[in-house]
Amino acid sequence: MELKKGKYLLSGDVDPLELAENYGLPLYIYDSAIIKRQIDRFNNAFSVKKMKLNYACKALTNINILKLMKKWGMGLDAVSIQEVRLGLHAGFKAKDILYTPNCVGLLELSEAVKLGVKINIDNLSILEQFGDHYPEYPVCIRLNPHVMAGGNSKISTGHIDSKFGISIHQLPHIHRIVETYGLKINGLHMHTGSEILDTEVYLKVADILLNTAEEFKDLDFIDFGSGFKVSYKNDGIETDMEDLGIQLSQKFTSFCAAYGKDLTLVFEPGKFIVSEAGYFLTRVNVVKQTTSNVFAGVDSGLNHLIRPMFYNAYHKITNLSNTEGRKRIYTVVGYICETDTFGVNRKMSEISEGDVLCFHNAGAYCYMMSSNYNSRFRPAEVLVHDGKAHLIRKREKMKDLLRGQVELNL
Ligand SMILES: *Cc1c(COP(=O)(O)O)cnc(C)c1O
Repeated sequence: MELKKGKYLLSGDVDPLELAENYGLPLYIYDSAIIKRQIDRFNNAFSVKKMKLNYACKALTNINILKLMKKWGMGLDAVSIQEVRLGLHAGFKAKDILYTPNCVGLLELSEAVKLGVKINIDNLSILEQFGDHYPEYPVCIRLNPHVMAGGNSKISTGHIDSKFGISIHQLPHIHRIVETYGLKINGLHMHTGSEILDTEVYLKVADILLNTAEEFKDLDFIDFGSGFKVSYKNDGIETDMEDLGIQLSQKFTSFCAAYGKDLTLVFEPGKFIVSEAGYFLTRVNVVKQTTSNVFAGVDSGLNHLIRPMFYNAYHKITNLSNTEGRKRIYTVVGYICETDTFGVNRKMSEISEGDVLCFHNAGAYCYMMSSNYNSRFRPAEVLVHDGKAHLIRKREKMKDLLRGQVELNL
């Protein structure tokens, strides 16, 4: 999508510079039309009898985003009991929430049982404890198929030393526990990591999961997790959802025929659904020429958007105040008192102090990973929905920094 002067790529021709004016900077903006587009694209790529998309809400849990997800027919994938509670608060039915924690104790699982949500267990010792306490409560099992699917070591979860899932080589242990306690296994799950670029690799993993599924007789669903990549640069490198949809649908349909029941095909996308819907706006405080660099220093930092520093993630940056100016090269940095680099040697329209820079793909894992580091306020969030802008989270104030602190009389 091309930049237009003044206007931008928000739906309803909402002008992001006007939002900056009205709500202040730095600012997160989400466009619901893009979320809807991605949901439709995902659903349309597959053709099976029963399918359910569970939104992996750790990507973005603003309550209004959750409500929209529900309205648009999504279920929820929650990785903490707090996410489960947020989902229930947003109006999701317990049966539409799958709780997929890692390294939690029986206490949190008991809470999930009380709330009545679906539960995914990824650990043999916990499966055993669970069977001992709740033999009647159906559970899903998270398997680790040990296939490396792209991404970097921090987001890849399928490799042999990963802490996630029960190893596919430990199936005899699973069966031993299931038989001893009479557990009902209602689903099988895998989530191999965060970047699927190769349909073949994904189908290979699918085969492993489906072969395993034949050994479980009470299944209602099979959950293929996520890892669907969207393009962060303008290079179009992303999961070929349409190709994957056609091939996996065929595989799944013939599996169901052999299994003798129409199981639900489940996915749990996060990034694919919300990444492109988000923009993060900041103001340039200083343009600083050093002996070897031209820095553009903005009124934000890794406290608001940590992905570049944390994962070496690439976020496209554009100058909204000067969309057609001559191109120059900048290193964009934040104001935090440590190395705090958003992008190195980026070609963009000439920057003047006071300009508004836009970080793209800021919908997933951006606001959610923000902090108060350096005792800065977290930014506001705005939702553009049906052509109108709505404030959905207030910018923090001094009282937010002190909230919860117990001030002693010292
Ligand atoms: C994080 C997570 C997802 C979502 O991953 P994306 O790459 O954002 O789509 C799905 N399932 C589980 C279990 C996760 O932990």
